[in-house]
Amino acid sequence: MIAMNDFASEPEELIQAQLSAAERVLRSGWYILGEEVKQFENRWADRCGVSYAVGVANGLEALEIGLMALHLQPGDEVITTPMTAFATVLGIMRAGLTPVFADIDSRTGLLDPASVERCISGQTKAVILVHLYGHIRQMDHWLSLCKAYELFLLEDCAQSHLARWRGSCSGSFGQWGAYSFYPTKNLGAIGDAGALVTNDSRIAREGKILRNYGQTERYRHPFIGLNSRLDELQAALLNVRLTWLERFTLRRQEIAQQYLSEIYNPYIHMLAPPISLENHVYHLFVILTRYREALVEHLKTHQIASLSHYPIPAHHQKSCQHLRTDPKGLKFSEIHAERCLSIPCHPQMTDKQVQRVIEVMNDFKP
Ligand SMILES: *Cc1c(COP(=O)(O)O)cnc(C)c1O
Repeated sequence: MIAMNDFASEPEELIQAQLSAAERVLRSGWYILGEEVKQFENRWADRCGVSYAVGVANGLEALEIGLMALHLQPGDEVITTPMTAFATVLGIMRAGLTPVFADIDSRTGLLDPASVERCISGQTKAVILVHLYGHIRQMDHWLSLCKAYELFLLEDCAQSHLARWRGSCSGSFGQWGAYSFYPTKNLGAIGDAGALVTNDSRIAREGKILRNYGQTERYRHPFIGLNSRLDELQAALLNVRLTWLERFTLRRQEIAQQYLSEIYNPYIHMLAPPISLENHVYHLFVILTRYREALVEHLKTHQIASLSHYPIPAHHQKSCQHLRTDPKGLKFSEIHAERCLSIPCHPQMTDKQVQRVIEVMNDFKP
């Protein structure tokens, strides 16, 4: 089987380094918010080219804490895309704010600025971009749009570790960026983990307070925080895995380049490639087809896994029925949800497996 991910085949050198890191934590006698977390925060901030990183328990809470730190009013609106992991939307709702859905650009699957502009109301306070599938785009445009309407520009970077726009990393453009280190992400822990990155010292300070019961000093709780602490074990494992991230990213990009140049099938459409390779870290390699069910079956018959990201756009979720959307509708999100399919693209794939996927994709007839 060619799987969507294959952690068991990771290099022995990486596995050994993780085992020593885990032993180091176990023997240190300190398990939550310690030196490993501090080290990881410093390294991750450095990699992202920002001043601060705040380690938290997961990506959802990075979004939630980031939004809490902006001190918006209940009911204030945050515009985002319905074509995302549901956590983006949940983060907004859990922070007491109201998501509004704009449509996507059909060529990339990413939020469409013209649709976002149609969604802006007097209640709108922020836009959350999702660098979907690992693709960052049009950041100059987003920065000037948010500036013109006096909106916070926020980045959901859960899929875009190390993705760069004109040399700057995802998460460094707006008020903050929210990262997830869920195991399947490009940088993943061996469990749940996340981080909020920012250049704003106040947001970083408040993030650290909010993740730990809203506590400013021991037994003082001026804020209504949560428990979203990052533990030493995950931070230590992330410190090791971080040293492999660049190599793994290059491999993803190499596989994607091969797919883009060698998959040719009139029944399968490629999403628009990035303007520059640094813009896309290929968390997922996604194609569009009107014949998705048949293609899934065809791949399965040939022992190749596939998944849809995402088959149900957020505005079709029961918990989102009441939410405002682009007055012109969300047509491209609907079509994308029906046609998108992710095929295996992970760093442990062998050249032979990549060739096999290409062959089987090219063989497909509905
Ligand atoms: C994975 C993901 C999240 C949520 O991260 P968790 O760590 O699972 O909470 C948020 N947004 C996007 C786009 C994601 O892919």
